Amino acid sequence: MENIAVIGAGTMGNGIAHVFAQHGFNVQLIDISEDSLKRGMSAIQNNLDRMVAKGVLKTENVQQTLSRIKTTSDLIQGVRHAELVVEAATEDISLKKKIFRELDAHCPPDAILATNTSSISITEIGAATNRGSQVIGMHFMNPVPVMKLVEVIRGYNTSDAVTQKILELSVILGKTPTEVNDYPGFIANRILMPMINESIESLYCGVAGVQEIDTVMKLGMGHPMGPLQLADFIGLDVCLSILEVLYNGFKNPKYAPCPLLVKMVMAGKLGVKSGEGFYDYSQSRKAEKIAAQFS
Ligand code: NAD
Repeated sequence: MENIAVIGAGTMGNGIAHVFAQHGFNVQLIDISEDSLKRGMSAIQNNLDRMVAKGVLKTENVQQTLSRIKTTSDLIQGVRHAELVVEAATEDISLKKKIFRELDAHCPPDAILATNTSSISITEIGAATNRGSQVIGMHFMNPVPVMKLVEVIRGYNTSDAVTQKILELSVILGKTPTEVNDYPGFIANRILMPMINESIESLYCGVAGVQEIDTVMKLGMGHPMGPLQLADFIGLDVCLSILEVLYNGFKNPKYAPCPLLVKMVMAGKLGVKSGEGFYDYSQSRKAEKIAAQFS
């Protein structure tokens, strides 16, 4: 396998493109927004430079990696030769189904169609195509170049051969894959999101402030980042979408998103990507400094 297409150049898409290109794959990075493509490429450049500064990558690998990534806003052209597509567009079921219908129509017949969805059913996304056995979840963690885990999610129709290929490919990318079945939130977000939601609920009820909640979880539980800061990094809109999938999928009120989270998303406070969430990232390069601690 040589040719990969990544759909979406946002927080996750640019990281996924980076990791594939760094490991020698040709990458088409596709986004409907030219602005996202520009920001995505500049994030990749910054992350590669940071790896060089830390001594984990040689200077010559930066240009080699960048030269393997081509950007386009034309999905049909971008996926024409793809052997694997990893979709990392916005967490929205109807958008993902629409993208997968297009992928099914325009990718080579034997291409594997993977989604980086955090919570949406792989089986349902696969059912939007005529190749459900070749649709799989390939759930990278944020920040992709740093985090080792890939949660590999089998839909109801995903074949053994496709699952095996994606497990092996994850290892080639230097990651540790973990195979899980297709239920809302899979494993990572079924456990993480209720914790983040409860942290927001604690803030909403006035039990403690932002710093205090994060300090308890960092120093008391040994978490490298507090849950509210982590929510800012994930994106509060992404957290809300995942909680809605859990809530609707299990029909259980324990997953109901905290009203404060709903209100912050309505107000456009999305975390790092919008400059403000539970913390303020607008004035300094605070977000980058915090991210650097984890890279
Ligand atoms: P994001 O908002 O940062 O980026 C989404 C990108 O998708 C944007 O650049 C947008 O322009 C693009 N897009 C929207 N519609 C498109 C289309 N039709 N074709 C091409 N591009 C399109 O979102 P993100 O945080 O990168 O999340 C992407 C996916 O990864 C979601 O499914 C999310 O649940 C999942 N995910 C997110 C995280 C995280 O920490 N943010 C972690 C793991 C998985």
